[in-house]
Amino acid sequence: MCKVMVKAVIIRIIGLVQGVGFRPFVYRIATLHNLRGYVRNLGGAEVEIFVEGNEEDINNFIKDLREKKPPSSLIQEVYIEEVKPRGYTSFKIVKSTRTKSKLSMIPPDFGICKYCLEEVLNPKSRWYHYPFNSCAWCGPRFTMIYRVPYDRENTAMVDFPLCEDCLKEYTDPNNLRRFHAQGISCPKCGPKLTLLDKNGSVIESESYKALCKTAKLIEEGNIVAIKGVGGFHIACLATNDEVVRELRIRKKRPTKPFALMALNLEVASKLIEINNIVASLLTSIQKPIVVAKKRENCPVSELVAPNLDTLGVMLPYTAMHYLLLEQTKDKFLIMTSGNPKGEPICISEEEAFNKIKGIVDYFLIHNRKIINRADDSVIRLTRGKPIFLRRSRGYVPLWLITPFKFKKPIISVGAMLSNAGAIGVEKYIIPTQYVGDVDNYENLKFLEKSLYYLILNYKININESLIVADKHPLYPTRSFAERLANKYNTKIDYVQHHHAHIASVMVDYKIPIDEEVIGIAIDGVGFGDDGNIWGAEVLLVKYNEYKRVGHFKYHPLPGGDLAVEYPVRSLIGILSLVLSEDEVVRVCKKYNLIKGLPKGERELNIVLKQAYFLKKPLASSMGRFLDAVSALLGVCLKRTYEGEPAITLEAFARNGKLLDIDEKEYLKLDNDIYIIDTAKLLSDLLQLLDEFDKKSIALTTQIIVGRLLAHIALKCKNRSHRYLILSGGAAVNEYIVKGVEEVIGDKLEILLPRSIPANDGGIAVGQIAIAAVRNSMIE
Ligand SMILES: [Zn+2]
Ligand SMILES: [Zn+2]
Repeated sequence: MCKVMVKAVIIRIIGLVQGVGFRPFVYRIATLHNLRGYVRNLGGAEVEIFVEGNEEDINNFIKDLREKKPPSSLIQEVYIEEVKPRGYTSFKIVKSTRTKSKLSMIPPDFGICKYCLEEVLNPKSRWYHYPFNSCAWCGPRFTMIYRVPYDRENTAMVDFPLCEDCLKEYTDPNNLRRFHAQGISCPKCGPKLTLLDKNGSVIESESYKALCKTAKLIEEGNIVAIKGVGGFHIACLATNDEVVRELRIRKKRPTKPFALMALNLEVASKLIEINNIVASLLTSIQKPIVVAKKRENCPVSELVAPNLDTLGVMLPYTAMHYLLLEQTKDKFLIMTSGNPKGEPICISEEEAFNKIKGIVDYFLIHNRKIINRADDSVIRLTRGKPIFLRRSRGYVPLWLITPFKFKKPIISVGAMLSNAGAIGVEKYIIPTQYVGDVDNYENLKFLEKSLYYLILNYKININESLIVADKHPLYPTRSFAERLANKYNTKIDYVQHHHAHIASVMVDYKIPIDEEVIGIAIDGVGFGDDGNIWGAEVLLVKYNEYKRVGHFKYHPLPGGDLAVEYPVRSLIGILSLVLSEDEVVRVCKKYNLIKGLPKGERELNIVLKQAYFLKKPLASSMGRFLDAVSALLGVCLKRTYEGEPAITLEAFARNGKLLDIDEKEYLKLDNDIYIIDTAKLLSDLLQLLDEFDKKSIALTTQIIVGRLLAHIALKCKNRSHRYLILSGGAAVNEYIVKGVEEVIGDKLEILLPRSIPANDGGIAVGQIAIAAVRNSMIE
């Protein structure tokens, strides 16, 4: 009889493979395929597997490794090497060896898995009605980890020693979901919920009863703060106008949309239109808020997302949220972040009682500490493609693998609005969680803390790091970067805002170091190299340099920052290039726009002086142009949250018709640079207003500016160009992207951000790449 040849391989897997039940899974499939050997953790982001047996079994094992891996694991790189068999007689999980790779990946949070939820809903299970059930495949990680490696004693679960039953499961390698699962607990040994009134007096201290009472209080119209995974939420009914109005008053948030949480996909489908992409995002382990088209006859109060045709919905990501929603009649609730306006979300009871006591009637708290603050992530669909508005819980601090290797660490601080920082180390860029608008002390502190957390855990020596900031001289992030550079006596580099926007997407798609792409960067504000405000740029971009080949025509921005708040100012600024003062006044009166200036006619006169005589500052920005159109059409006359005039204009255009306009007459070549004449376009829109409906004008305008930018891209395209990258806060606009797509066709491949936000939350990634390449910090 012929003896079967024994073969052996060593497999190294890099990615999110620790703290996610990977080793028991490997143990199970190895024994299933009759293989001998071992599996062990190496470093913090790597698993080593040695298997020997017959070839077919090894091949099947490798197939299962890829196809049946635990749902929360993420395989980023695999190395397989054939080696000599060593005569193992069994398969074992062996102890981790000393760290080979120095980087320990900090795992992100995972939403509750279906098995844990089943246990919570099963009256016979010992986890029945237990709000904190989790396993190796699910549960919080980043938000409760003090430091790497991910072991229980390094997390907030250190306060909850395992009971006998849990310990038994923790030490059983046959227990697929609980063996060495660092975060597990049960009603006997785990965290507990308590319901408090707004003065801190205990109303109910038994977890499930506290949940049921909370649901009842919400049903009665109360607003309740709920301590969750990455911070506090504020929960209340989404179907009662009175309640939503009260929440808006207390939160000082007149129109910014509130997020909803729905019990399951079926409930969510009554609120928003669900296709395959939306469904898979909603049910993914990350459980982000997904912004999708609102359903007709949606039962949600109009006050939840005024003037918008979309709603942001997420599904419960803990048993606590599920059990709470289950107890409500609607099966969905407003679940908005628990913070005072503009500040970070509260993570401790102390913060919550200090800062949001005036907003809520009750507090549902628990006794597990939140170590790292993380807001709910937000994703919206643009032309069917998911794009981050906010990258946080569930996704951070996953790293991006770059196409290069850094000689020394790099720390970047991002820009200003919806900000995040990042660090670059070895071949990775690791963005911080979403920080928010860094225009106040609290958020700047949050940014510092988030960066220091990464610096500490990735063992970065700041003394030998390069620090990177935005070129804008007045951004608080820039002074923070300068303080850091001074303190550690290290080098600092400044990166142009829109260059960083495009480079961030280049990293996202691993564009090689010597390749040039065409970039369209569209947003509200970015400091330009000529000192003007940029924000509608066509650029030829490499990591180390860029050339501006086209932009919107400069116009005065009367009152600077004030114009951002009152869009009529931008309208007057743009029209001042083509109309006389008297004509502008007539337009303002005809379309009832003076009410968009708080001090009325008196203010109008000042604005006219700023536009016609001061003529400063100068802007060339998609944001300000969309603001102007939004004001002209009467859609939005006051901005109360970032991008409001543009976002409501986009929503308003729904069901509009495309008007037949030849956009090319708005494009001119001036001193080797293409200029889009937005002033002429805007004054022509005035003529159209007498003839066509406003929705069609809104739709057509947005498509046209997309087309115009794309025409410039094609004019500057040479044979080596493969990609057109779209980025910046306005790159999520459905109609602008449509306009770009119409003109580009298949002449270039269009790339939109996919793992980082299009807005300034993605800037830090681009800053690192640019600074690294041009300072020769790449190996
Ligand atoms: Zn689970
Ligand atoms: Zn237990």
